[in-house]
Amino acid sequence: MNKNISHDANFRECLDIVAACCRIARAAQQASLTLPQHSKSDSTPVTAADFAVQAIINRKLGQFYKGVKILAEESSADLKTKSSLLKRVCELVGMNWPTVSAENITSAIDMGNHRGIQESYWTLDPIDGTKGFIRGAQYAIALAFIDKGEVTKAIMGCPNLSTSKDKSLDAISPTGSIFFSLKGKGSWVLPDAYTSFDPEQISCKLSQSEEIRICGSVEPLHSVTKKNDQIAQFLNKRNHKLKIDSQCKYAIVSRGQADAFIRLPTDRYYLEKVWDHAAGLLIASEAGAIVSDANGNDLNFRDGKEMLGNKGIVCASPYYHPRIITAIKDLQLNL
Ligand code: AMP
Ligand code: MG
Repeated sequence: MNKNISHDANFRECLDIVAACCRIARAAQQASLTLPQHSKSDSTPVTAADFAVQAIINRKLGQFYKGVKILAEESSADLKTKSSLLKRVCELVGMNWPTVSAENITSAIDMGNHRGIQESYWTLDPIDGTKGFIRGAQYAIALAFIDKGEVTKAIMGCPNLSTSKDKSLDAISPTGSIFFSLKGKGSWVLPDAYTSFDPEQISCKLSQSEEIRICGSVEPLHSVTKKNDQIAQFLNKRNHKLKIDSQCKYAIVSRGQADAFIRLPTDRYYLEKVWDHAAGLLIASEAGAIVSDANGNDLNFRDGKEMLGNKGIVCASPYYHPRIITAIKDLQLNL
């Protein structure tokens, strides 16, 4: 992998910028109680760190790839009129881009307004799991490249997740992990504070235990985790529940720390967003897991920011994935 990736200098630079953003986000989270926040039009929270990371990564993608198209979560419309929020965003972005102005920031954020239909584009969730970020828990910086509907590159920075899978998931690690994949080249992890490039390959392994480790959302509004007990029962297993915010859930299945990540919708009309799943899908697939929606359908990254036709998510080892899909069908658990 070292050799292969060194042929893709821009991808290596993408890893470096996600690593730099992990450090900035970590500093911001430590001050998160005083970090200005705002509620977006969809009532979800956003912080200065979400905008700052999006501005930094979009700007760099624009430098690395001429004419780049980016579909990113945040929009400067949620920022322009909020002066205390914008001031803090400027401070955070200044840690990477010392000469930045407020205008630079809003235009860099809005480089992310590509519609993501058909063509090839990058997708970015600058802080995935913002509610976890605000609570001082896990979150992820998720970046992926989608080539005509297929995810071919993925980088996921998890600033609070240890590179050791033996550490408790509840522990906040002082240094985090960066997971990455290129289509056909496996999934890899390295510390987010790396100074030399020496990634370790990860793979999802089958556990032989009487229990199944199913991970799900911390936030009850985001998915119905109590149905996971019924799925475990259907499989004659005890449910060892794991709760963790953000796409870190894909990462822990990818390295065999959980057997499955199940996301059953709380609302039949909710449409999953491309930036919430693209990076996680490739990292998990390249680690040997299977990812689909909760009906067993492929994830749809062709029709814009919303994953039309998909309901829920199941990411699991090849042993468990078909069994979980059968359980969901037979028990009629999907909305
Ligand atoms: P999780 O880490 O599992 O809590 O999921 C975080 C993601 O849930 C966020 O990135 C949001 O895009 C997404 N989200 C927000 N509201 C909802 C909702 N009502 N149903 C499902 N997902 C949601
Ligand atoms: Mg998100």
